[in-house]
Amino acid sequence: MSNNNNVLTLSAPLSGPVLALGNVPDEVFASGAMGDGLAIDPLNDCLHAPCDGVVIHVARTGHALTIRADNGAEVLMHVGIDTVELNGEGFALLVKDGARVSEGQPLVQFDLDRIARQCKSLVSLIILTNSERFELQPIASKTVKVGEALMRIALRTSAPVQTAVDNSVAEVSATVRITHRGGLHARPAALIRKTAQGFSSQSQLHFGDKTAACDSLIGLMGLGIGEGDEVRVTCRGKDGEAALQALVAALSVAIHEEPHAPVVATPRRANTEANVLQGVCAAPGLVCGPLFRLTGIELPQDSGNHSVDEQLQRLDTALEQVRGEIRNTLDQARQRKNVEEEEIFAAHLALLEDPALLDAATATIEQGSAATHAWRDAIQAQCAVLLALRKPLFAERANDLRDLQQRVLRALLGEAWHFELPAGAIVSAHELTPSDLLQLSAQQAAGICMAEGGATSHVAILARGKGLPCLVALGNEVLDVPQGQRVVLDASNGRLELAPSEARHAEVHQTRETQKQRRQQQQAQARQPASTTDGVTVEVAANVASSAEAQVAFDNGADGVGLLRTEFLFVDRRTAPDEQEQRQAYQAVLDAMGDKSVIIRTIDVGGDKQLDYLPLPVEANPVLGLRGIRMAQVRPELLDQQLRALLQVSPLARCRILLPMVSEVDELLQIRQRLDELCVELELTQRPELGVMIEVPAAALMAEQLAKHADFLSIGTNDLSQYTLAMDRDHAGLAARVDALHPALLRLIAQTCAGAAKQGRWVGVCGALASDPLATPVLVGLGVSELSVSPPQIGEIKDRVRHLDAAQCRQLSLELLDLSSAKAVRQACQHHWPLS
Ligand code: PEP
Ligand code: MG
Repeated sequence: MSNNNNVLTLSAPLSGPVLALGNVPDEVFASGAMGDGLAIDPLNDCLHAPCDGVVIHVARTGHALTIRADNGAEVLMHVGIDTVELNGEGFALLVKDGARVSEGQPLVQFDLDRIARQCKSLVSLIILTNSERFELQPIASKTVKVGEALMRIALRTSAPVQTAVDNSVAEVSATVRITHRGGLHARPAALIRKTAQGFSSQSQLHFGDKTAACDSLIGLMGLGIGEGDEVRVTCRGKDGEAALQALVAALSVAIHEEPHAPVVATPRRANTEANVLQGVCAAPGLVCGPLFRLTGIELPQDSGNHSVDEQLQRLDTALEQVRGEIRNTLDQARQRKNVEEEEIFAAHLALLEDPALLDAATATIEQGSAATHAWRDAIQAQCAVLLALRKPLFAERANDLRDLQQRVLRALLGEAWHFELPAGAIVSAHELTPSDLLQLSAQQAAGICMAEGGATSHVAILARGKGLPCLVALGNEVLDVPQGQRVVLDASNGRLELAPSEARHAEVHQTRETQKQRRQQQQAQARQPASTTDGVTVEVAANVASSAEAQVAFDNGADGVGLLRTEFLFVDRRTAPDEQEQRQAYQAVLDAMGDKSVIIRTIDVGGDKQLDYLPLPVEANPVLGLRGIRMAQVRPELLDQQLRALLQVSPLARCRILLPMVSEVDELLQIRQRLDELCVELELTQRPELGVMIEVPAAALMAEQLAKHADFLSIGTNDLSQYTLAMDRDHAGLAARVDALHPALLRLIAQTCAGAAKQGRWVGVCGALASDPLATPVLVGLGVSELSVSPPQIGEIKDRVRHLDAAQCRQLSLELLDLSSAKAVRQACQHHWPLS
């Protein structure tokens, strides 16, 4: 909806109720610190482009992106609140940074359920980040659909000129207490910097006798501000008051701790045991091997008197080379969807551009220093500042700076990026850097131990991601251990054993071998059928949403597809897929599964899953409304078309049709009759099997009557929990209590199995409970014979089945029905069938 150059109408990127910014449950957004805008509480799960333009920024985690419209307006779209913490899970980016997009184009697909369950809010922001240049007028005030006019933005006639600070304007200041957990470390500092950059005023933070400009990340971190510390913020400029307000809000908004800090560092322990150094576990594991000591680059004395231009040029070239290398690492991490690695190296890229660092190096070169020495000194000065703060989070960021020191020095000196590492070595170092770690992992290092470092460092995060056992904070003694000495690194228990006996070596080998074998066995056996020790076979199938996922499931050993959610074919498009497209999509899933059977569920929309091209009546309680099979009531032609497509797949014997949200027998009978008519029409002699989902208590209670007319039943524990417990499955506040191991659910599952058995029908479970290994014995015990799980868990669940005695499961499961809570059931399961 572009108009002329100055006025642009943005269309709604999402469908749902519109909110004013002030009503957004996030202080930073609500304060307008990020810019003016609107919010939408989304009902659909795909973000669309609100105008033509270029994607100028994509959050690494896929939850936000910014488009620059052709008139220069920059529109940030942020899906949900605190969604960065999902680390990209549940977000699929459909465009790349730098891409040209047209209005209405899908940009990001997201998992609505997951965000609702795991994040603070689904409310999504549409913010004009350069609102100093544009004026915004909302158009929509109630509910919008994707593509409808949302707001108009017009170039301000007197756009403020971004000039040097106007000293005639008085400075404004405020004192504020820092509420960010862990103090003003990298993430909150970045928030402050971003906030400050939204204003033309110059802002500074003062703490003790130190001051930093709010637009320097390093400067801000260098202040060493801890949680609860009081700081003074000053702003000078035309928009000083607004900047001050925004910064005060940003400084006192408590954002969560760095997302990747699951391992709690403990203080260094005294080395009391002979020949054992005690450290802190940064990544668990047990390994043995020769110790390999790694050292950093030492520079010779600088002669001084270098040509300033030449050295500046050298530094520039080296910095650009390292930036290029980091961008490559970032691309690879993105391809591997390794969000942690991506975040770490994106932070390195930001540090390499930090004005505080570059200015310091330039100043030293201008005094005649070599680029190498100037760079080293600039880094070391910043490291000294961070280390002097004596706070672990800041000290760990110093290591990131050291990483950049080494990389740029290597680029300047032309030194090869290479270590000669003996096979299976345990590497020791004062403190390794993230890029060292990637290199060492690629060279098959067996483990890592460091004199310094912390469990929340980037190196620790990477080590955990690579499964590389790692101990930190061992003290300088670790650096005195002779090169090549054989040691045992028991990272899980914080021990580096310097003189292990032969017997200890053998024991470590044995333990590792057992663990490895168990994992390999699970995978090797994954393609075999799974039977309990007393011979009851349980089919372990997979839940999928596409043929690509079906292929993964097949490769992982799935016995079939237990649930194909077809609604994924229908959402986020402007028209419904026709019969031919549907047939091809279903056939592709069948083809991906070899000779295994595939259960295809008919479309389950309605409720909170709305289709733009399928207007359904507005309902007060959509979850209790026309969803699932009930949609046949209002749009029978849609279901008819889907059934036709399903009947044309081949071989039909491998296709089973599953009906969602059935609550009475008539619904099943009507579809069965319609299927029969269509089979006659299409001259088919064969009929596909027809099953019913047990997702509402009524269906579970009527299982026997349903099973009389159905070929099989499949329990959807997600909805069955929601409707049995009267707890919204998407309600964040109730998430912990919506547990399908609740005894009430177990009773319904037991009743379903008993009802089906009376009619000689089998029962499967395709809800999330099937993927929970703690629940496997209970489900088997209650009479479930098929578990449809997420593809990566097939080997594990099959292994679990193979270790069970079905008769014992039957007996013990019945006892669980009498327990009082889901918690009690979980405890009992852990007791009867412990998970190692
Ligand atoms: C369920 O409700 O358990 C189920 C499998 O269906 P969905 O999660 O798609 O609603
Ligand atoms: Mg369901």
